[in-house]
Amino acid sequence: MKQLLYKFSRKGLLVGLTLMAILLANALNYFISIYFEGEFTRVDLVRSTIIPIVLVPILAWTLINRAFKLARVERELKKIVTFDGLTKLYTRNAFLELAHDSHQKAIENKTELSILALDLDLFKSINDKYGHDSGDYALIKFGELVSSLADDKYICGRLGGEEFAIILPQTNHDTAKKFAEYLREKLKNSILIYKTNEILLTASIGISRLDLKQPQSFDELLVEADRALYLAKRTGRNKSVTYDAEKILKQNLQTSS
Ligand code: GH3
Ligand code: MG
Ligand code: MG
Repeated sequence: MKQLLYKFSRKGLLVGLTLMAILLANALNYFISIYFEGEFTRVDLVRSTIIPIVLVPILAWTLINRAFKLARVERELKKIVTFDGLTKLYTRNAFLELAHDSHQKAIENKTELSILALDLDLFKSINDKYGHDSGDYALIKFGELVSSLADDKYICGRLGGEEFAIILPQTNHDTAKKFAEYLREKLKNSILIYKTNEILLTASIGISRLDLKQPQSFDELLVEADRALYLAKRTGRNKSVTYDAEKILKQNLQTSS
């Protein structure tokens, strides 16, 4: 039914339904007339043609309109659930679903996979200094930049607030690091102007990769990227850090001592 709604216009669908009803009414009337009266007259033909022509538009028009409205609402809902309103990147749920698929595929095909966890630096101060709408504008521009750089190769999602993640399928550690640095530099060098205010935006990025010998679960990979991101924050922000268990351990020891 949904396919029909995409293929035909309302009027096209109504004409199609009326023609089908005429055909069916004539076929049924034909068999009934032959069975009971032994003949199918011209009057029978006219009757079983005119009745559907009058009744089908009256009965079906409201239903067709409802079906079209429902299909439109369904499309809009799907868009809202899949894409974040501000950044136009994938929403958390849509991203995690795609990310799990990508992770599964990488393990099955034994192909590389890297993950970036990103967090905008001192974003609260942008809101405090220039207002919440400036923060929103910065998020929109950040979304545009990420989408343009990631192209269709990478899967980018807004995990919440000013936190993001990018899945890089078939991408090794070095390429992931290069991409992270390229994105970070581009962001750092782009000055956003909103209502005469110049907004400077930077991001900290944590990078992890799938170990093909002992594959981590997707959640573990994300935790690793998050730990690297935390290290980037702790050591000055506006930088990308790759996950390295020893480095993280050392950092944790320093923090607790
Ligand atoms: P850090 O470098 O440590 O990440 O500092 P931060 O200020 O970025 O981090 P913090 O968690 O203190 O603040 C995040 C801010 O992001 C607070 C919140 O108001 C803002 N934020 C989250 N979502 C939105 C949004 O959709 N629009 C706007 N304008 N601000 C948002
Ligand atoms: Mg932040
Ligand atoms: Mg944050």
